[in-house]
Amino acid sequence: MTASARLLIVGPQGSGKGTQGVRVAAAFDVPVVSTGDIFRANIKGGTELGAKVTEILDRGDLVPDELTSEIVRDRLAQDDAASGFLLDGYPRNAVQVGHLDEFLAGRGEALDAVILLDVPREESMSRLKLRASEQGRSDDTEEAIAHRLDIYENETAPILEVYGERGIVDRIDGVGSLDEIFGRIVAALGARGLNASV
Ligand code: AMP
Repeated sequence: MTASARLLIVGPQGSGKGTQGVRVAAAFDVPVVSTGDIFRANIKGGTELGAKVTEILDRGDLVPDELTSEIVRDRLAQDDAASGFLLDGYPRNAVQVGHLDEFLAGRGEALDAVILLDVPREESMSRLKLRASEQGRSDDTEEAIAHRLDIYENETAPILEVYGERGIVDRIDGVGSLDEIFGRIVAALGARGLNASV
């Protein structure tokens, strides 16, 4: 059975959205499109794009909207995203929401659901510090972490109001075991008639 699901997962850094995003995408048999992963892969691979964004990521700032949206449009135009995808980390502000709306409308599509992983700031902060000591990500300094959480609260959280007005936001309690949280997401999507295919 092939499912069609156009999903977005949103949450503060440290909410576990990356981990849950991969699981949900696998369950729905759709590709994950993570802008953070795309940027990090380019930095690691030493590409021109990587050189452009490396300092921006290290500071915890946002990459310019036009550049980010162009990368996402190119990625979503690939065959494997034709019948669905899970966006992780994009859109991250109102301008990017506009870019995505325009792109999807041009294909006669729209997002089916926005999964909001709700995690208190203190919890995200302590998870991120733990990840910093375990993985040594260069943007996981205390200063950059605090800056990213501020950007999330000021720029990203407001996009949930826009999607909320469309009635497509599922607010999920992001505190619990990985399996519990995954179960909550699958149940919420199922209630919308979006059923996992595998
Ligand atoms: P993430 O892995 O989603 O936490 O993203 C890591 C970093 O990549 C962010 O702190 C930003 O510097 C950059 N980034 C990821 N997604 C976006 C986006 N949609 N717009 C601008 N910058 C982004």
